This record gives sequence, C-alpha cells and structure tokens, in this order.
Amino acid sequence: MMASQTSLPGTIRKLDEVVVNRIAAGEVIQRPANALKEMIENCLDAKATNIQVTVKQGGLKLLQIQDNGTGIRKEDMSIVCERFTTSKLQSFDDLNSIATYGFRGEALASISHVAHVTITTRTADSKCAFRAQFIDGKLKEAVKPCAGNIGTQITVEDLFYNINTRRKALKSPSEEHAKVSEVVSRYAVHNSRVGFTLKKYGESSADVRTPPNSSAVHNIRTIYGPSIAKELVEIEHEDSRLCFKVHGFVTNANYSTKKCTMLLFINHRLVDSTALRKSLDTVYQAYLPKNSHPFMYLSLEIAPQNVDVNVHPTKHEVHFLHEDAIIESVQTAVEAKLLGSNSSRTFYTQALLPGVSFTEDDKASSSGSGDKTYAHHMVRTDSKEQKLDTFLRAPTTQGAGSSNQVSTTNREGRADRNEDNSAIEVFIDKEQTTSSKEDTEPKTQQKQRQIKLSSVLSLQQTVKDDAHKGLTEMFRNHKFVGCVNEEFSLIQHQTMLFLVNTTTVSKELFYQILLFDFGNFGNLRLSEPAPIYELAMLALDLEESGWIEADGPKEDLATYIVDFLSSKREMLEDYFSMEIDQNGNLCTVPMLLENFVPDMDGLPMYILRLATEVDWDVEKICFESFARETSNFYCVKKSLFVPTTESVDKYKWCTEHVLYPALRTSILPPSSLANDSSILQIANLPDLYKVFERC
Ligand code: ADP
Ligand code: MG
Repeated sequence: MMASQTSLPGTIRKLDEVVVNRIAAGEVIQRPANALKEMIENCLDAKATNIQVTVKQGGLKLLQIQDNGTGIRKEDMSIVCERFTTSKLQSFDDLNSIATYGFRGEALASISHVAHVTITTRTADSKCAFRAQFIDGKLKEAVKPCAGNIGTQITVEDLFYNINTRRKALKSPSEEHAKVSEVVSRYAVHNSRVGFTLKKYGESSADVRTPPNSSAVHNIRTIYGPSIAKELVEIEHEDSRLCFKVHGFVTNANYSTKKCTMLLFINHRLVDSTALRKSLDTVYQAYLPKNSHPFMYLSLEIAPQNVDVNVHPTKHEVHFLHEDAIIESVQTAVEAKLLGSNSSRTFYTQALLPGVSFTEDDKASSSGSGDKTYAHHMVRTDSKEQKLDTFLRAPTTQGAGSSNQVSTTNREGRADRNEDNSAIEVFIDKEQTTSSKEDTEPKTQQKQRQIKLSSVLSLQQTVKDDAHKGLTEMFRNHKFVGCVNEEFSLIQHQTMLFLVNTTTVSKELFYQILLFDFGNFGNLRLSEPAPIYELAMLALDLEESGWIEADGPKEDLATYIVDFLSSKREMLEDYFSMEIDQNGNLCTVPMLLENFVPDMDGLPMYILRLATEVDWDVEKICFESFARETSNFYCVKKSLFVPTTESVDKYKWCTEHVLYPALRTSILPPSSLANDSSILQIANLPDLYKVFERC
C-alpha cells in the first residue's frame, strides 16, 4: 500500500497581513481601467473641472491623473492611502443618502498595495504643493513640499509589480488602453461640464479630448463621431411610482451598428446592467436590420435606498430594487421616443397577384399616446411583419453618407458640373398621412382601385400565360440561404441548391408589380423635390446616356425632358404615384414594395430613359415600356460605387427580408428565366451526402 504521507493536514498559518491586503487589493483593482475609474470619481468628488489622464502601456507602466480640484490637505496626506480613510462618509447611515462616488476609502489603499503611488497635491489655501510616495497603504517617506498647481496629481506606476498572477491575467497593453479610453470617454460624456483629456505618455496628440462646459451630445460627437451624434434622440422620463428618473440620448432607427454600445450611469456611477442593455436592444430589433444595434447613453437616478451602492467595487454589474419594473419603464420610454420620431406615415401594401387581399399597413407603429402595442411585446413570426422603419432607416440614415441621399455629383468622383455646390440632394421621406389622429380611430381599410384598362389587363394576362410552372413552384416553396453579392443569392428548394440572379428576378418582380398593382401604388416622397432638369443634366453627363454632340446641347435636351415629363404629369401621378410639381421637380416615386426603396443613384438615368425610351404613343406599349424602365430602376443590382458596410448591410437585409419573401408570394416567373441562366442548380444534397460519406 502506498504510504499516506499526503493525507497529513498542512499547518495552518496566519497569512502575512501585507499579503492579505495585496490579495484583497488585487480583487478590487483588476486592471488599469478599474483603478482609473476610481481615481476619476475621486477627482469629480473633489469638484475638478479639468481632468487629464496620461498612460503608458495601457496604464500598466504608468497611469497618471491630474485634476484641478480641491486638493488634499497636508495633514491628511499620511493617511489617504490607508484603508477605510475617507473624507466623505462619517456614519453608516450616510450610506443611504450618499451623493459622492467614493465612500469606502478603499480605492487609493488598494492601488497602493499593488503599485507604486505618488501623490502631488495642493489646496487653494496652501502656498505650495506637497508630494509623497506610498507603498502598501503607508507613506514611504516624509511628505515633501514642492511646486505644483492647485489640485491633485496621482501617479500609479508598475501596476501589479508584486502580483505575478494578476499581471499575467491581463490582456495586451493595447487592450488595456482601449479599456482606459472607454472609461475616460464615458465619464467625459456623462460629466460634460468637466474637460477630459486622455493621452499616451510622450505623445502630443490626445486620444480623447473634451472641453469644459461642453454638452453630452457635443462630447458624443467628438468622441463617438457625428454619424451617431446626429441621429440621437433625447430620453427624459420620470417615474414617481418607482422613484427613479432617466435622462440620456439614444440613436434613432436611422443608425445602427454591429455592436450594442450602452453608456450607463446609475446615480452617476459608471456601471453595467446586462439586463437593461438586452431589454433595450430588444426594443431596437423591431427597428433595425438584423444583427445591428443602437448606441445609447443613459443616466439613471434611482432612490439611493433602492440601489445597493455597497457592492463590491469590481461588480460593475449592478442590481437594484424593482429592477424588472424599472427596466420595463425605461424600455417603454425609449420605444415611445423611437415611435415618435417615425410617426405619421402611411404605407400601402400591394396586392400583386389577383386574389391577394389588400390591407393597410399596421398602424401599431404610429405615434400618440394610449394603448400602444410596443414592438418588443409582439412576437414576430414572419419577416414580413417587420415594420417599415426597420428597413427604411437605411434611406433616412446617415446624412452626408446617406444611402437615400442622392447627391447628383456623379460617380467615379468626376467633378460636378456646378462648382457652387448646387448638387441636388434627394432624401426619401415616406409619404405622410394628413393627420395623426387615427391612433384612436378604427383603422379604415384602404380601397384598391379596380383597373379595367384593357391594355393593362392584356399585359397581365401575358404574364400569367407565360408563368413557368416549375419555377413558380420553386419560388413559392424556396428557403433563402444567403446573398452571394448584390447580383446573386442562394436559395434551396427541396434538396437542391440554386444560384439565383437577383437582378433579373427582381426586375421581373417589379415589372409584374407595376402591372398588377397598376394605379394603386403608395408614394415614396423625396424630402427635397428633385429638379428634373438637374437629373437630366446629370444623366446626360454619364457615358451610359450615350449622348453625342450631334444630339444637340445638353441644356436643350434637359429642358425638353422637363417639359415632356411635365406634360405627362397627370397620368404619371394617377397611375404611377409619380408626382411632378409645377416647377418641374420630381416629388415622389412609386412605392412598389413595402420596405423597399430603389437605389437613388439610378434616378438620373431613370428620368432620362423615361423621356427617351418609353413609347408614349400607343397605350399598351407605353405601359409596358414604362414598367420595364421602372423595374430596371428598382431592381437590385450591383452598385456602381465601392460598397460601404452600411450599403452591404442594407442590400443583404433587403434581399433576404423584402425581396425574396415577395418573390415567394408573388412572382410568376416567365419561362425565359428557365433558360437564360438566371437560375442555376449548383448542388443537390443527396449527391453532396455521397461526397461527404467518403470523407
Ligand atoms: P473614497 O473616495 O471612498 O473616500 P479613496 O480611497 O478613493 O476613498 O480616497 C480616499 C480619500 O483621498 C478621499 O476621501 C479624499 O479625501 C482623498 N482624495 C483622493 N483622491 C483625491 C483627489 N483627486 N482630490 C482630492 N482628494 C482626493
Ligand atoms: Mg474614491
């Protein structure tokens, strides 16, 4: 038998107090950003209006913070770094009405147990500053007078020099720097009266810099960028029943990004609440494209007795009394704001195929008070139930870089004709309802107009007669697999995988919508009426237009196009929801498919071709060619520009959630699609299984 030498108990020894403190300190201060957060809060407690942070190696080598606050009295210097010394809390009862960040007197002590700390400080009534170094909570040597500004500078060097394990657990200096930067940025947004600077040691330019007496929005712009700042809506909500209030700024449905960012302060302390973040993110799911998220900055003030401020300092994750109810209340406030910023729009849905009933858009998304159905309370079972805002954020988004904004500056960076920045900007604004009082009124059913024009009926019949049975079956029952690019997507039908030319089939889809919904389109309103003259001039500047000198001056042609299309005004508006005003501006284009906005880059060519390629003389040919030109403009195609992340997200979302669902329910695929390589079978699953079996 093996001897049982291992079963003897080890002697229990009392740990050296210094070691205990060090371990405890390592728990409190886990990384440079934790230490910095505590120190920033001390500066704010000391009423600083300027806080400068300097770091070396992500704060591991050096973390220095300089403020212009009250300073520390010389006689207090010897004990500032001892545990449980604080100038902020006198009795336990004070905890209930605590207004300052610090109260435990633990931060500086902890830091001094795991790093070399030097404090230089001067109060307003002192003739000079004083400096001292600390080790394990104690003064290393006597406090020395020195020169210095009013305020305090704390230098933390070689963090975790004495705890190997902690040091090793840390991420790279660049990741630590990112964390440090996040802390400074967030405090800067929340404390906009105070100027913040974050610099890497030895570098002259700052990573973060905000001026004193700024505003939250201004600081968000400076730090997080204008694309976020310009889409912010203010949240202001108070709930007397739950004894809390919330104030902040969140992005609207026009902005979205891959990662959800939430700057959360509870009673002015930077914290995390996964529960709150997730709940709010859920609200946005109804408004933003799949897998995209908002930016949110929220400051909650909760009755102090309801928040456990005495949580462990590393517990950034907070919990508070009535958490669920408070979260729901904040959720409601945010959603109300999101709805409010997208209110009063009417959309028409189409009955593409005969027999598909027509219903008005669900008004749950309109604004107003009362019994609203919030999106996060609804269960979505079908991507078609996505609200229009979800997609249309794309068009109304991103301002200067906006996808719905058609700047008539031409592609490929060719110079604009007009030096004086007269480029037309076209924003799509979805059609507005005349009043918003329908919130409380029963929804009226929109009547679809019966079109009895024999030309249209005959074009419809041709489409029906030409429908390919096999392909119809395939589209009705397909599963969308994914986008390859704008032009191609993969779909599965039964056990087969197909590569489908999205451009060709969407062109056909829009053509058919134009015929079957003839005279019943909703409007997509351009936020600025677009001068047809300018659009035509732009198009003529494009090589694609085929303009040659023999065609005559472009100006004359453009004028002709304005006059010509204006002469068709009544018909265009009546049948195709294309409004042209008295000044020759295009105001609306038809809404062919809910949640779908054509790429406005194609608008100039579309206008030119309407005037030149449509045969306006014979009714049937006119409608057919008009529908062909229009579907050519609407179809999803390869963008002429280098795609941005946003444009990629947009077309992918739209292809999956708008286009292919519409193809499923509506398209009558012409037999030509069966033979022109628009749809290619690229795999058959049973065959693939055979291949894999061999592996
Ligand atoms: P707490 O903030 O909980 O009081 P700390 O360990 O963070 O504990 O700080 C201890 C004390 O040191 C504070 O109470 C305060 O008096 C003083 N102190 C720390 N940082 C500063 C500063 N930047 N300016 C003025 N006083 C400070
Ligand atoms: Mg403190």
